[in-house]
Parts: sequence; C-alpha cells; structure tokens
Amino acid sequence: MSVVEGGSDAAWSFDTLAVRAGQERSQFNEHSEALYLTSSFVFENAAQAAARFSGTEPGNVYARFSNPTVSTMQERLAALEGAEACIATATGMAAILSTVMALMKSGEHIVSSRSIFGATQQLFGTILPRFGVDTSFVDQGTVEAFRAAMRPTTRMVFIETPSNPLTEVFDIAALARVAHEGGALLAVDNCFCSPALQRPLQMGADLVIHSATKYLDGQGRVLGGAVCGAKALTEEVFKFLRTAGPTLSPFNAWVILKGLETLSVRMKAQSANALELAQWLEAQPSVTRVFYPGLASHPQHALAMRQQAGGGAIVSFEVRGGREAAWRVVDNCRLLSITANLGDTKTTITHPASTTHGRISAEARAASGIGEGLLRIAVGLEAPADLKSDLARGLG
Ligand SMILES: *Cc1c(COP(=O)(O)O)cnc(C)c1O
Repeated sequence: MSVVEGGSDAAWSFDTLAVRAGQERSQFNEHSEALYLTSSFVFENAAQAAARFSGTEPGNVYARFSNPTVSTMQERLAALEGAEACIATATGMAAILSTVMALMKSGEHIVSSRSIFGATQQLFGTILPRFGVDTSFVDQGTVEAFRAAMRPTTRMVFIETPSNPLTEVFDIAALARVAHEGGALLAVDNCFCSPALQRPLQMGADLVIHSATKYLDGQGRVLGGAVCGAKALTEEVFKFLRTAGPTLSPFNAWVILKGLETLSVRMKAQSANALELAQWLEAQPSVTRVFYPGLASHPQHALAMRQQAGGGAIVSFEVRGGREAAWRVVDNCRLLSITANLGDTKTTITHPASTTHGRISAEARAASGIGEGLLRIAVGLEAPADLKSDLARGLG
C-alpha cells in the first residue's frame, strides 16, 4: 500500500483532514477508502511471521490486533482531535471500559461527574467496585467540588461535556489542572460535541473518549468507539484491547470513516437546527425549562461558547405535568423517531427517566436532576418547521 502524498499534512485544516487524513491506497488505486474484510493476514515466510508476532516488524497480524481499514479510521480521528494517537473500540462503552482496564488497578479511584451516560454510571458505580476501583460522583459542576473529591489514590477524573441529558457544561481547562495537581488524568467523553465543535486535548485533557455510534457515524448505522490521546496512553489501551478483544469491526470502521467526511457540515447544520428549536421551545407555555448550551438562558452559556464552536444538537426540556405530559408529547410524534439513540441525521426523542436512565435508582436520578417531565431531543437535519409542528401537537 502507498500512503497518499501528504496523507497526514499537519498544515491542513479540520475540514480537509476530515476528508483526507490517514488514507492509503492499495495496488488498485481506489479513490474511496478500501474496506478490508479479513480476519487475518498472510506472511512471506516463517521469519516474517515471527517478526510480526513479536512486534519487531510493524504490520498486520490478526484483526483483533489491527486491520488497515480500522487503522485509517484511527488516524483520521486522531488528526481531527489533534491527538498523537487513537485506538478504535467495538462500542463507546468498550472505549470507557478499555481505558479503565488499561490505565487503572485495584485500589485506585475515579472522580466522575454525576451527569454522565447511564451505562457509564452503572459501570463506575456497580461493576468497577467489584474489582477494587471506586468512583466518587460529583453532583455539582464546580471546580471546587471536583477538587474536594480528589484522593491520594485518584488516577482519573472523568467528565462528559455537555452532559447527557441535561447539557451541563464542565470547564475542561480548569478540571485538567485539578486532575494534574492530584497526579490524575482527565478523560473527556466528547460524544455530544465531536471534534467538529470541541477539542478537549487542546484544552489540557489527557484522553478523549468517543461513542462513534453517535455523531462520528452520524447516520445511526453502526456501533463503535474510540480513545484518543498521547501514544504512551493509547498504547496501554491497545495492549488491553488486543488481548481482551473489544475491537472495532473493519466494516464499522469503514462506515465511521466515511461518516467523518461529513462530520463538520452535519454538526454545523444540526447545531443551527437545534438552536432554532430550543428558542421555539423556550416560548411554549407548557415548557417550563429548556436545557441547551447555545441559549443565553443556559447557566454555563459563556463557558460553552468559550470551549465549543457551537451549542451542539442535543436539546432537553421539561414539560409541565410530569411523566404523563412528557409521554403525551412522545406519543404524538409522527416525524420524530421514538428512540434513545442520538447523533443521527433523523431527529429522535426520548424520555430519559423511563429509558436511558431507567435502571438508575430514583434517588440517583433525582440527584442528577432528571425529572419525570424531562424530554431529550437529538436534532437531525429535517426542516425545523416540521419538527416544531410535530412537537406542537403533543405540547397542546
Ligand atoms: C452512547 C453514549 C455512550 C456509549 O456508547 P455506545 O457506543 O452505545 O457503547 C457513552 N457516552 C455517551 C455520552 C453516549 O451518548
């Protein structure tokens, strides 16, 4: 294979890297990136097999370790995040689990924001303690609250910003300082913004974690995940992955790779649609509160505009009348898809208290501020006017 001339030119802008970074061409000189559906690779001779297995000669061995299509996707995402390296995983949760398994050991401690993805809360709160890794969940978004939760054994500070589903914004640069003062790493789940709107490594974070299932694919087709950061860290994640096996499938990598090419235009358009919808929701009498970082009414609007290039495409809002009223809005949707997925070009609506956050205890949910009247919309590319009329029916 030959690397395309200037294939990883650091001088290229984001939009160019999104389309070109990491591409290699085979002897067929294909224009679009090739999909290599092969589980293993053939060696020239016994000596080469031995050298590939021992790692003294770089190259592909077996697709649990590496695959050219997966490598291209990793290089492209690393370029977009401004990361030295990227390791792709089977899902976003596999990325979070692999990071913890690779970089932490029994007796060490995580400080995490409370407002994180439901499965991440479950992983940190109920599974990791069985292996001697405890997590302190921080209820308030302030830097002081994070600092107070640090222990001598804290190895990782974990945040999701903006958070799911309340779009709380966390100060990445300030929390990187808190983590580093305590000898810990800052890991940021950058799912909601994607590198098109936010690049945490440039603000001092050590690791960026992705559910590629969301905006990186962008059209709701495949599951995937990734960990980006310094090579010294991603190498450890790779060692865990090649042994334990939650590797990304080459087919999924190829879909995500092609998704990255349109990431920038999608994020801009979906953010603009989300802002329009959020402003409209704010004016509806049955809506008591709208959560969207792009609104001036958002408590961390200034911080969001400082560290994000847009508000993102997730809008949450509280309707008067609790679960009954919220379900009425959902059940009256004919256009919006009733699904918990997000990051799709098709707009989705979900009731977090009974779906994504349903397995969490009512107390923990209340502590996270996820009320019975809360709805989350992941805004897609449909015309905002059509989305408004679909929602208006149930809002009454
Ligand atoms: C979906 C999601 C995850 C988990 O990703 P999967 O690909 O579903 O495993 C993690 N974090 C956030 C913010 C998510 O939205």
